[in-house]
Amino acid sequence: MVWERETREYDGKAKRVWSVRGAPDLVILQFTDDATAFNGVKRASIPDKGRINVEITTHLLERVAAAGVPTHLVARQGEDLVCRRVSIIPVEIVVRNVCAGSLAKRYGVPEGTKLAYPLVEHFYKSDKLDDPLMTEEHAVLFGWATREELAVCRALALSVNDALKAFWDGLGVDLVDFKLEFGRLPDGTVVLADEITPDGSRLWERGTGRHLDKDVFRRDLGDLSATYRDLYARVFGRPFVAGS
Ligand code: UDP
Repeated sequence: MVWERETREYDGKAKRVWSVRGAPDLVILQFTDDATAFNGVKRASIPDKGRINVEITTHLLERVAAAGVPTHLVARQGEDLVCRRVSIIPVEIVVRNVCAGSLAKRYGVPEGTKLAYPLVEHFYKSDKLDDPLMTEEHAVLFGWATREELAVCRALALSVNDALKAFWDGLGVDLVDFKLEFGRLPDGTVVLADEITPDGSRLWERGTGRHLDKDVFRRDLGDLSATYRDLYARVFGRPFVAGS
């Protein structure tokens, strides 16, 4: 089965969303080479990022699906991810194993401090408001998700963490934190949506602490394209070849 892009519905920061010809219950997420940080203030085009991210996200979504987490993934076609159409729950779920980024800054706890158990945080998905941190209570009170949906999201996010931690562990990489988004299928079932990529995860090389994620771009630590090609080779056991 080959799915065809039809109408460009929405341009995100690193992805474009298309409708699919003859399949109103599907969408295509096109992964671009665009990178942004600080809510779009810093921008660049990173060679091969789209292709590497779509391949990594496909691999990771398949792994978490095998671990019992329902996802929106249907198939990958080149730089396109064919997905079930969901209505996105506007709650970004961040799971953390090690203190870093905004958590370190917010509480003055040093980056690299290990957490005794995974911390699940909720952010309101709003570019206009800069994704503010919130509690589950805010999300329920403001009608962004029900208590039941949030319980499902939390349980699934922790299952994703177990599966991904084990996966990265095997590659000598520490999974520090990552962001997930969930969506509702037409019948109300909550599934994992969006992507799981080094754009939305912190991955530190074990032993050296080298950043193998978008912090290389955010913090000007080196060449993001080279970093992502390195990560690709670890994940797939072969070098990334452009255009393949
Ligand atoms: N993250 C993301 N999108 C966001 C905010 C965060 O994908 O809008 C990811 C980020 O890459 C990291 C994790 O969520 O892996 C936690 O990010 P944090 O809250 O520390 O924010 P940051 O320091 O990246 O602004």
